[in-house]
Amino acid sequence: MISLRGLVKEFPGGVRAIDDLDLEIADGEFLALLGPSGCGKTTLLRTIAGLETPTAGRVGIGGRDVTALPPGRRDVAMVFQDYALFPHMDVAANIAYPLRVKRVGRAERRARAAATADRLDLSGLLDRRPAQLSGGQQQRVALARAIACRPRAFLFDEPLSNLDARLRLTARTFLKRLQRELGVTTVFVTHDQGEALALADRVAVMSGGRLAQVGTPAEVFQRPLTTFVAAFIGATPMNLLPGRAEGGALLVAGARLTPPGPARDLPDGTPVTYGVRPEYADLSYEPREDGLPGRVGVVENMGTALLVTLEPAGGGDGPLVQVVVPEEDGEPAPGTPAWAVPRASRALVYRDGR
Ligand code: ATP
Repeated sequence: MISLRGLVKEFPGGVRAIDDLDLEIADGEFLALLGPSGCGKTTLLRTIAGLETPTAGRVGIGGRDVTALPPGRRDVAMVFQDYALFPHMDVAANIAYPLRVKRVGRAERRARAAATADRLDLSGLLDRRPAQLSGGQQQRVALARAIACRPRAFLFDEPLSNLDARLRLTARTFLKRLQRELGVTTVFVTHDQGEALALADRVAVMSGGRLAQVGTPAEVFQRPLTTFVAAFIGATPMNLLPGRAEGGALLVAGARLTPPGPARDLPDGTPVTYGVRPEYADLSYEPREDGLPGRVGVVENMGTALLVTLEPAGGGDGPLVQVVVPEEDGEPAPGTPAWAVPRASRALVYRDGR
């Protein structure tokens, strides 16, 4: 449905915001574009919308090459972070505006705006101005405006980032339900990994204008292809520890660990990065050969669980290791000797970051 081929966007001054990118987004798919600040997410979205002209490559929408078409002829609706509502127009006029631009007749305009407003629970607010609405209501107006013109694709640029934490969760669920119902292909830019995992059918993780990984939320969470993706995805960052292979095991920070499947055959001495999520390690207060030794440092209460940070046992500057333990196990006292025992089947091994 949306097809990007060999896409390059260079800004004056030599910044390569998009660096030879290929991506196919299926009809009806919800794709989240995720990555750190400056990785090129917004530029990519704007290039799909036609607000930026690519330096090289092609943009296809619905099987048609739209690279040379202006935004108005691409049949996509973009929803911005600040909603970009017209302050002098009421809600009804804001929703109907793109229909007016498309020269849809007055009666049909009204009917479609009213039906869309009804669907988004805005019927009582049609004669208000944007300044008289809450953040969540403004967001729904921006959505209604995008939906009313029945586009072939929605392009969202961090549409939830101006909402407070609680409203953000409600709006997220609402958005996902709406997208399911409408079945419209959606590209959603965010730098919030939790939001990307929760919303998307597939997540595209960007780094430096390129795609680091494209996969389902489960794939990017459970099998990140690089240490960059591993460190970026997850509510608590993955433990990534230097180590080396020896005799079919991995020597990591004073522990002898069982390698997951394919890493069993590494030649002795091979340097590796060993990765395990804090959720996939257990805490032992008895010495374990297969446990990373340390002392309890900071303990953070996450509600139903505790995030325990182990500091190097000898007080040296070895790596910190984090473990998530159930809240009912009780809070360990700082300084208590402890061992973080990774579940081998959940561990990941990288060589040269891959
Ligand atoms: P953020 O999450 O901070 O919004 P982003 O991933 O959306 O970041 P972009 O806004 O796409 O990143 O920017 C990608 C790179 O291109 C950055 O290095 C940025 O400084 C640069 N850039 C963006 N727009 C322009 C411009 N109009 N002129 C020059 N450089 C630009």
